[in-house]
Amino acid sequence: MRNRWSDKEADRLEGLDALVYATRTIGADSDLVLWGGGNSSAKVTEKDHLGRELRVLWVKGSGSDMRTATAAHFTPLRLDELLLLKEREMVDDEEMVACQAKCVLEPGAPKPSIETLLHAFIPAPHVLHTHADAICALTDTSDSRKLIRRVYGEDVALVSYIRPGFVLAKRAGEAFWKNSGLRAIILDKHGLVTWGGTAKAAYLETIKMVQEAERHIRLAGGGGDGRRAK
Ligand code: ZN
Repeated sequence: MRNRWSDKEADRLEGLDALVYATRTIGADSDLVLWGGGNSSAKVTEKDHLGRELRVLWVKGSGSDMRTATAAHFTPLRLDELLLLKEREMVDDEEMVACQAKCVLEPGAPKPSIETLLHAFIPAPHVLHTHADAICALTDTSDSRKLIRRVYGEDVALVSYIRPGFVLAKRAGEAFWKNSGLRAIILDKHGLVTWGGTAKAAYLETIKMVQEAERHIRLAGGGGDGRRAK
């Protein structure tokens, strides 16, 4: 896995523009995401239609591809309203989708992804979520917990497999807060979540995590059995 980030192209980009660049750079690698897979987000402070400042989560909508993403494929949501859900024990898919739809700031924006809360509950300004092949080769094994610990030590959390939705987002958020030195979260049988203060930092962490997985697979002389959850 090579680092495709270009400071020349990305240095002056901020907020949504930096998010679009990071998304397309991730999408350029089919070993990180296949068509339609993965998503990305940025948290920014913006003014609403009445001039009030509010925290906005820009997250890639469902049904678009990271490789060809443009600003039009991202959805702005009221972050502080989404965060109120974090206090709940359970929110079913129907309620979550309805609530997310009510938090959308722009009429006509793409439908928010089922993984929107995963991005909301991790407080970092930039969050990237991929289904990287090398990470899935580690997680799609019977002893993934042990393997992840061996490859990454204590600084990467493994969240047990739960299909995408409220509970997975909540578990990921809890894992984030449990360890102040955490560098990434791996979702068992699913993929990788990285973050950073900038889009570049989140991207570089994705690449580093994947490179470390690849190195382990190389040294171990093989990989997983290729199965992966979406
Ligand atoms: Zn996913």
